[in-house]
Amino acid sequence: MRPRLLAGWFLGACAGPPPEGGGAAAPGDSGGESAGFLAFPLAEREPFQTVLGVDHDPTVQEPGIDQLTCLDHHGRSFPHCYDEHDGTDYILHGGFEAMDAGSVAILAAADGVVAAAEDGHYDRCHGSLETMSVDCDGHDGIANSVILEHEGGWRTLYWHMMEGSVAVAVGQAVRRGEVLGRVGSSGFSTQPHLHFELQAADGTPVDPYAGPESQPESWWCDQGELDALPGDCP
Ligand SMILES: [Zn+2]
Repeated sequence: MRPRLLAGWFLGACAGPPPEGGGAAAPGDSGGESAGFLAFPLAEREPFQTVLGVDHDPTVQEPGIDQLTCLDHHGRSFPHCYDEHDGTDYILHGGFEAMDAGSVAILAAADGVVAAAEDGHYDRCHGSLETMSVDCDGHDGIANSVILEHEGGWRTLYWHMMEGSVAVAVGQAVRRGEVLGRVGSSGFSTQPHLHFELQAADGTPVDPYAGPESQPESWWCDQGELDALPGDCP
């Protein structure tokens, strides 16, 4: 049991911010068109073949061996998700070596305004076998991050960026595809990855992926085939 936990935990441990408050309709959710308004938020696809999604299983497990119990949008368990995960993790293949080689740019998934931006925090947090938690080598463990606000009050959250990479400031208008920062391992993160999260205006996390355990319509412009990474917007 324990090795399974360790493997799973090291693959995905990650925590975004707590939900906030608000309330409104989604962009493009009237008129019968696709509601999707999100483009894939990374400048490359090949290094991100490992994806851990939103947990749709309402059960909250005790800390320990059951924490991998989850259901992703398609109804699959770990390693497609993990317990109580509100976002989607795109794991950078090659880890810290790939990060040190330049990492990968994180892009705005849709047009919006920067609602929050945080930088200046240690970006080499990693998993510790001793404590079974995240170790930031004595640093504060706060994530470098960006939150964008979109039409209708929807928000997208980009977590765990490299220190010094955040390229936008609060109040700045950004276009879809604009660079926000680079993939790192700041905050509660065991390895370099992007935690991408969609929140409705009331702060409720929403899985952008459609599926039998999720909503029938995708919030991606082009969700693509199962296990393919989402595409861009027209
Ligand atoms: Zn995550």
